Amino acid sequence: MTLADLIPTLRTSLSCRLEPGLWPETTRATCDGQLVVGGVDLAHLAARFGTPVLAIDATDVRSRCRAYREALPGVEIAYAAKAFLCRAMARLADQEGLALDVCSGGEVAVAAAGGFPGHRMVLHGNVKSDEDLKTALGVGVGRIVIDSIEEIPTLAALVPARQQVLLRVVPGVDAGTHAGLTTGTEDQKFGLSIATGAAAEAVRRVLAHPELELVGLHCHIGSQVRSVTRYVEAAERMVAFLAEISREHSIELPQLDLGGGHAVAYAPGEQSVDLAAFARTVPAVVAAACHRFGIAVPRLTVEPGRALVARAGVTVYRVAAIKHGVRRTFVAVDGGMSDNPRPALYGARYPVRRFGRPVSVPSAPVTIVGRHCESSDVLAEDVLLPADVAAGDLLAVPCSGAYHVSLSSTYNQVGRPPVVAVASGAAVPMLRRETIEDLLRRDAG
Ligand code: PLP
Repeated sequence: MTLADLIPTLRTSLSCRLEPGLWPETTRATCDGQLVVGGVDLAHLAARFGTPVLAIDATDVRSRCRAYREALPGVEIAYAAKAFLCRAMARLADQEGLALDVCSGGEVAVAAAGGFPGHRMVLHGNVKSDEDLKTALGVGVGRIVIDSIEEIPTLAALVPARQQVLLRVVPGVDAGTHAGLTTGTEDQKFGLSIATGAAAEAVRRVLAHPELELVGLHCHIGSQVRSVTRYVEAAERMVAFLAEISREHSIELPQLDLGGGHAVAYAPGEQSVDLAAFARTVPAVVAAACHRFGIAVPRLTVEPGRALVARAGVTVYRVAAIKHGVRRTFVAVDGGMSDNPRPALYGARYPVRRFGRPVSVPSAPVTIVGRHCESSDVLAEDVLLPADVAAGDLLAVPCSGAYHVSLSSTYNQVGRPPVVAVASGAAVPMLRRETIEDLLRRDAG
């Protein structure tokens, strides 16, 4: 038992403290149990939209977009739309002057429907169907990142006019992250390896196609990358390869896209990437390496996804049931792995906060489980909640803005939750709740 558990007033006042660095910028927690994001009381949001519901603090997203642009002047910031995309999000990225990393015809179409200009989109993907390519070409996509040898003639045959392309290269750098989030090492499905000669061969083949204009190289070493040193390593290898291309083909490629993967903190004590250190170090390393090799310094692009949107999101669940096991107490909520598969996929950890009423009893460890027919449907293991947590209580999970909606499913035919932008006291729907009618619409009968 902690000191806070012994002294009720201390317990109440600690209950209104938020874990630093995990909640949206505008979050306020009061000692009577109120939780407010973007000026909107999340209990009112839950009453209006039902639960689960995902609140996105639009002010938080905008301020992170601005922080990237200010920290990295002259560097193109391309928001990785796979982290979270809907028309309103595409509009917001456009308004903040970002480029957009898209990786399917669907992402292209949603972004374009949100008014995002095609020429500021960069199309990725290790497999791009003809449909994907045609959709992207149809909106005048700015650049296409070639990921395989096979893609080169396919794309060359489809482009209506000379098309700018980049080549995705495997730099052979371990990002030091979860194995499921590592994409810069040898022997994986993304990109073309420098080490095996596949990247050099792809350069030769692209240059043999006058329909394609090779403007640069791309790499993405992984996600949840905390160490700036890994980016430095990747940047140096990429510049060395630019220099090799320059020697072999007498061309200087003007662009270098270093991908995304900038880590965010999901739980107390976790570290996010140090943006200031990244900004201080990486462009300088690229410039110095280019000078060493005697080649022109390319324009840099970075593609943060979760770093722009993760912290802006808070998911609100309602407690449905409590079960006291022999060793553990299970708190079952009305969502789960269908709206957040990250704990099951990557062992992601989240803090959980009960809100909507004051804390008047000591806290106790519980396991938050979802409603789905899988025992791996665990949203948070061993988190502290007030011991009187009961059915009907509201729970909030921060850091829900990235890869929750985009990785969500309709498992057990449960409709996906609504997403609501909250800012200046207003709640504006971004995505409505998926209904049974939505689910039946694609059922061919
Ligand atoms: N760029 C590329 C090519 C990616 O594959 C990804 C994520 O998978 C990203 C950027 C964004 O990564 P993150 O959201 O971790 O920044």
